[in-house]
Amino acid sequence: APEPSPEEAELSRRHSELTELIEQASWRYYVLDSPTVSDAEYDSWMREITAIEERRPELRTPDSPTQKVGAPISTEFTAVEHLQRMESLDNAFNAADLAGWQGRAERLAERDPAPYLCELKIDGLAVALVYEKGRLVRAATRGDGRVGEDVTPNVRTIADVPERLTGDDVPDLMEVRGEVFLPVWGFEKLNQELMDAGKPPFANPRNSAAGSLRQKDPRITAHRALRMIVHGVGKWEGATAPKAQSEMYDRLKSFGLPVSDRYRVVATMAEVQEFVDHYAEHRHDTEYEIDGVVVKVDRVDVQRQLGSTSKAPRWAIAYKYPPEEVTTKLLDIRVGI
Ligand code: NAD
Repeated sequence: APEPSPEEAELSRRHSELTELIEQASWRYYVLDSPTVSDAEYDSWMREITAIEERRPELRTPDSPTQKVGAPISTEFTAVEHLQRMESLDNAFNAADLAGWQGRAERLAERDPAPYLCELKIDGLAVALVYEKGRLVRAATRGDGRVGEDVTPNVRTIADVPERLTGDDVPDLMEVRGEVFLPVWGFEKLNQELMDAGKPPFANPRNSAAGSLRQKDPRITAHRALRMIVHGVGKWEGATAPKAQSEMYDRLKSFGLPVSDRYRVVATMAEVQEFVDHYAEHRHDTEYEIDGVVVKVDRVDVQRQLGSTSKAPRWAIAYKYPPEEVTTKLLDIRVGI
C-alpha cells in the first residue's frame, strides 16, 4: 500500500484520539451515570469523527463509535440478550435536516411514507420489557443494543409497569420498549436530597433516572419516583400484528401498558413542523423533561421497507431541541467548571 500522506496520517491520529475520548465519555455516561463532559461537547466529537470518516471511509469499521449504540454493560448486572436489537435514533437539528430525512424516506420507500406519527422524546433511559403469555418475565436496559443489563426486580417496583397484561389478543411473546424517567419534581427532589447530603447531584434527568433504576438494591429504586412510557415493540408473536405505530399504541394501551396521550398522527411535513414548534414553545408544560420530538413513519409496512442503518431505524428521526441552561448549571456544579 502507498504511504499515507501527512494529511491522511493526521486524520487517522485524530480518529483514534476521538474514539478514545468518546468511549471514555460513553462509559462514564451509560455505565456510571455520571458524565464529565457536556452533551454538546460529546455531540461535537461525534460530528467531527463522522466528518473524518466521510473523508476516510476505511476508518468506518464496525467498532467505530459512529457504528455503535450505547456502551458495553456494567459487570454489576447480569447480561441479557435482547430478542431483537435495540437501536438509537438519528438526529435532526433544524427544518432542513428534517426535510432531508423525509426526502430519503420518500426515495427508499415503495410508497408515500406519510402519515407521520409525532411524539415527545422523553429524557430517560430505554428499557425493554418481555411479556410471556401476558406475564412480565424480564426487564433489561438497552446496553450496547444487543446485550443489556437485567433490571427485572428494579422495574417491578415501577407502578406504571403491569405485572400481567389485560385485554384481548395479547401476544404469546412480546418485547415492548419504552422510556423509564423521573418526573421533573422527582428529579429536583432527588438532586436536593443528594446536595443536602453533601453528594454530587445528577447532571440531567436521564442520568438521574438511570442511576435510580440501575441500583443493586431494588429497595432504593422503589423509593424513587420512576415512571415509564412505552414507545415501541421488538418481538411480537402469537397475536394479530398491528399495521401502524398508532394502532400498536392503541393495542399496548388496551393491554394496560403506559402509552403517552401526547402523540399525533399527521399527513404532511408542515404539520410535523407545527408539532415540533409547538413543543419547542411548551417544552416545560409536560410533567417530564423532553429533549426533542420523535417523528416516525406510521405504517409498519413502510417501516419495514425503510429498515435500519447500523445503529438507527431509517423510519424515525429525533428532532433535538437546543440544550438548556439548567442542565448546564448542574453539570457545572458536578464538574466544577
Ligand atoms: P438518543 O438519546 O439521542 O436517542 C435514542 C433514544 O431515545 C432511544 O434509545 C430511546 O430510549 C429514546 N426515546 C425517547 N423517547 C422516545 C420515543 N418517543 N420514541 C423512540 N425513542 C425514544 O440516543 P442515545 O444513543 O441514547 O444517546 C446519544 C446521546 O446521549 C448523545 O447525543 C449525547 O447527547 C448523549 N451522551 C452524552 C455523553 C456525555 O458524556 N455527555 C456520553 C454519551 C452520550
